[in-house]
Amino acid sequence: MPELNYDLPLFRPPSEAYSLILQVTIGCSHNACAFCGMYKTKKFRVKEWSEIEVDITLAAREMRHARRIFLADGNALAMSTSGMLHLLGRLYRAFPFLERVSAYAGPKDILNKSGEELREIRQAGLEILYLGVESGNEEILRQMYKGVAPEEMIEAGQKAIQAGFKLSVTVINGLGGRAMLREHALDTARLLSQIDPHYLGLLTLMPVPGTVLEKRITRGEFELPGPLEILAEIKLMLENMQLSNCIFRCNHASNYLPLKGTLSKDQAALVTLLENVLKNPAQYRLKPEFLRGL
Ligand code: SF4
Repeated sequence: MPELNYDLPLFRPPSEAYSLILQVTIGCSHNACAFCGMYKTKKFRVKEWSEIEVDITLAAREMRHARRIFLADGNALAMSTSGMLHLLGRLYRAFPFLERVSAYAGPKDILNKSGEELREIRQAGLEILYLGVESGNEEILRQMYKGVAPEEMIEAGQKAIQAGFKLSVTVINGLGGRAMLREHALDTARLLSQIDPHYLGLLTLMPVPGTVLEKRITRGEFELPGPLEILAEIKLMLENMQLSNCIFRCNHASNYLPLKGTLSKDQAALVTLLENVLKNPAQYRLKPEFLRGL
């Protein structure tokens, strides 16, 4: 990886581990979610074109053969449509072997663009959008300051897919705490069924020091579900989702039990596995607390 002018910390989805990371925006334009500490040290801005150009020139010299580029930070789709189109054109010219460009997107970034603008951006080569759905429950989204209601999240997800993007969404198990475990599972299953994303990743809540949520936990206002409660939540979610051909991953470092499959064919087997684990947890190796996140 060339020494680009990164404003750290830098985050990317696990599936972009081998991509060239090009930072075109700094931070997250929302930066308010109660559970998230990713960009707390940064003030959101779109980088100046002169700064982006320096990085592209440097990266093109050292990584001319890059096939994948991930646009950081938290929601590069917040860029103007004209800026994004200019950027994509420049990238495909500078990297002749480039196959795909991807970025995180917030629901409002998608909703703020017209269907026509999204289609233009897709055709210019932005292929995958990573959208943090977190929960399908209205009260949980409100308590977590996500900034949108479930119906807006559904609209954003459907709009991205209609424009031709591959949509990868993440959900956070445990986000309703013990109190709203069932509502979180059922409403998230409903929301995911309506979006019908191409990829679904489940993470398990790990409180981040200094966040609003961590303070609520310390004050006893939010109770973290235990490992078996989380697995029961995942089972309930899987039992109630109808997705057409979704690649499912629950093998993030935060998860207690690695699970993966293609939901159209593996959903029943995943539910049976979870049923067995819940009946006989001692027979399975759940990740111990001290190894989570590693
Ligand atoms: S939108 Fe994403 S990056 Fe921004 S604060 Fe929320 S979880 Fe963090």
